[in-house]
Amino acid sequence: MARIFAVANQKGGVGKTTTTVNLAAALAAHEQRVLLVDLDPQGNATMGSGVDKRAVPATVYQVLIGQTSVAEARARSEAGGYDVLAANRELAGAEIDLVQIDNREKRLKDALALVDAEYDFILIDCPPSLSMLTLNGLCGAHGVIIPMQCEYYALEGLSDLVNTIKQVHAKLNRDLKIIGLLRVMFDPRSTLSQQVSAQLEAHFGDKVFKAIIPRNVRLAEAPSHGLPGVVFDKQAKGSQAYLSFAAEMIERIKSI
Ligand code: ATP
Ligand code: MG
Repeated sequence: MARIFAVANQKGGVGKTTTTVNLAAALAAHEQRVLLVDLDPQGNATMGSGVDKRAVPATVYQVLIGQTSVAEARARSEAGGYDVLAANRELAGAEIDLVQIDNREKRLKDALALVDAEYDFILIDCPPSLSMLTLNGLCGAHGVIIPMQCEYYALEGLSDLVNTIKQVHAKLNRDLKIIGLLRVMFDPRSTLSQQVSAQLEAHFGDKVFKAIIPRNVRLAEAPSHGLPGVVFDKQAKGSQAYLSFAAEMIERIKSI
């Protein structure tokens, strides 16, 4: 059975998509069977995986509203070596369409249950909000991976997210837990980064992943080539960090 993880943080631009895409490709490089679910109408994880969000026959939107199945809708990231349940602008309408549907928070969970046995990991890229889409991501997952930049305001937003995760755990998904906080876009020369990083370790202990993703321009360049960073430039510091992170995830799921 697949382990399902939502990559979430309601703050925009903190590295959710970069983390989802590179973790998917890095896990595939470690010979894991991976499905990436793009739950963001921006479709960045889809495009960053080399899948054209305008050319796919179906997306996660049709899956959520029950028009098709994951097995029918999924595409393949040839470069990344994993499957993609794509998203595009259409998904923005899901919020409204889902209002009339029963069990609307659990649509993704139910759809993923049918392909569960085909994967080792399912990774869900959540949008920058605590919307019905993110709620579907959290209800469908066993755990949450929270990418964070080590800057002053990062900790403020974190408490809202932690509260949401607690509520989902209490009311909708008893399986859900925080798997870990991932420090991303890290600048080791910045004193503030080091202080915030130390604070995170003090508060969250071993919930902070050992792998640290540095700020690395190769990771930012990769999406314009339709490639995950770890495929575009495997030797880059950022790619190596995501490969270490994938190894850490493979280890960590043994104990959860
Ligand atoms: P959104 O909230 O809009 O979905 P996000 O949290 O998914 O954003 P990303 O799109 O992954 O964030 O990253 C935001 C920007 O930062 C992108 O331009 C991305 O290329 C860049 N970026 C992410 N991680 C790194 C890194 N480690 N080094 C350099 N640039 C990075
Ligand atoms: Mg994103």
